[in-house]
Amino acid sequence: NLFDEPSTRTMGSFHQSASLLGCSVFNVHGAARFSSFAKNESIADTIRVAEAQGFDALAFRYGNEQGIHEAVSAAERMVLINAGSGANEHPTQAGLDALTIMQEFGTLDGLTLGFVGDCRNSRTIRSLIRLAVQYNIKRVYFAAPEMFSPSDDVLELLITNPIPYVLSPDVCTIAPHVDVLYVTRIQWERMRGWQKLLWRMRRAKFHKAFVVDERVTDMLREKAIVMHPLPRVSGKWRELPEETDTNHRSRIWKQVENGNLFRMALLAALLAPREYPVFQSDIKAASIYV
Ligand code: ASP
Repeated sequence: NLFDEPSTRTMGSFHQSASLLGCSVFNVHGAARFSSFAKNESIADTIRVAEAQGFDALAFRYGNEQGIHEAVSAAERMVLINAGSGANEHPTQAGLDALTIMQEFGTLDGLTLGFVGDCRNSRTIRSLIRLAVQYNIKRVYFAAPEMFSPSDDVLELLITNPIPYVLSPDVCTIAPHVDVLYVTRIQWERMRGWQKLLWRMRRAKFHKAFVVDERVTDMLREKAIVMHPLPRVSGKWRELPEETDTNHRSRIWKQVENGNLFRMALLAALLAPREYPVFQSDIKAASIYV
């Protein structure tokens, strides 16, 4: 595990999953400070070192997509897994999210998905949508203040597939229509100075429009589920108050459990000997970028 951005769940989950499969695990957290990145070592050299030391797989989180690509190009033998690339992608989160949805509905086909909160900066929303468009999903709703509405590439993905989508400033207007309500936090750390200022000035007004409290869960369909990739914000500006955890629709802790299951399956599929029939696939031995 080499993580250059904060992580609790993803690193913990990769650690647990690999350990449960009998692998030995080495974790580097805060890589900018605590790995040789701090000594200006390149990503490529870091990968070469890990390969020379005999590591078979690396879960790599980095602040941008390019860093992940540099690692992939440098790897000759080691399996690389994108554990989060800046505001862009978080593919293993999408995998565990899809698993959670499938446990509930059996498939993503025919479902209506609703995304709430920071639809602009959330890499988990982008990755889940990239996965979901491979199914026949019915419709996608987004509820976000304008400054957090989804970026063009996400909307284009829906247009080209084609999947109808609706943008709304208020979660109450989308809640009654969705099978999955996927809540996200406002990603303060990804905002520029002026955006933080603007958001500070506006949040008292907008918070009401995206907080998913009991008022909103009461509007959901009986069989709908509430998800959140976590972490959620605590205190005054929380987007998913703890009181919703006891609602029968909440699946947020299930998602965390499924993180281990999904990552175990992924590691097993990527690392098992090719002749082992359960895991036969076309996956190449090196440079797996999921
Ligand atoms: N844990 C998720 C991520 O790494 C969601 C979040 O940080 O809000 O993207």
